[in-house]
Amino acid sequence: MNQFNWDTSFSVDFDLESGISKKAETTKRYLSQMKDMYYDTDSAERILEESDPLIYEFHELGCPERSGDLAFGTTILYPGCVGDEYYMTKGHFHTILETAEVYYTLSGEGYMVMENPEGDTLELPLRAGEAVYVPRRYAHRSVNTGDQPLVMFYTFGADAGHDYGTIETKGYHKLIVKREEGTAVIDNPKWKQGAAV
Ligand code: MN
Repeated sequence: MNQFNWDTSFSVDFDLESGISKKAETTKRYLSQMKDMYYDTDSAERILEESDPLIYEFHELGCPERSGDLAFGTTILYPGCVGDEYYMTKGHFHTILETAEVYYTLSGEGYMVMENPEGDTLELPLRAGEAVYVPRRYAHRSVNTGDQPLVMFYTFGADAGHDYGTIETKGYHKLIVKREEGTAVIDNPKWKQGAAV
């Protein structure tokens, strides 16, 4: 998609009923594409025997990957759990590690889970009307802890690049799970094994 001229100004309607979020093509991530990222792989397999739920989708507006540009779009992360682990995005580092990102929550609730290569972790709530700053050097994954879609606007330096492989190989240090008493942040029991295949 290249309907925008990134060398001049333009505006985009992000209204979820009639705007770009309804019209634009999205990249979709189904459970089958990320089943090994959930720590309860038995639950993931059981779900996949019945169906292959859409976990999240996001719009990219075709921003060229140039230094100085700002890529932006929306992510829609659906509510649900695999075992007791909430639906989440894959999460990634930026290839240019020193690239920050801003997420603004339009609706829904959840967590932004972040960690740097040294293993320092950050977990911040995502609430409608609030922005979260993802600092340079931190991988980032969003998690939907509510019962409605979590809809976020994001923007980052357009030449940042995406490294999904490190997270796919090693997993995250921290997981966000559903407990009777509410949402809990736990250590990933599989992290040291290099969880995912
Ligand atoms: Mn990013």
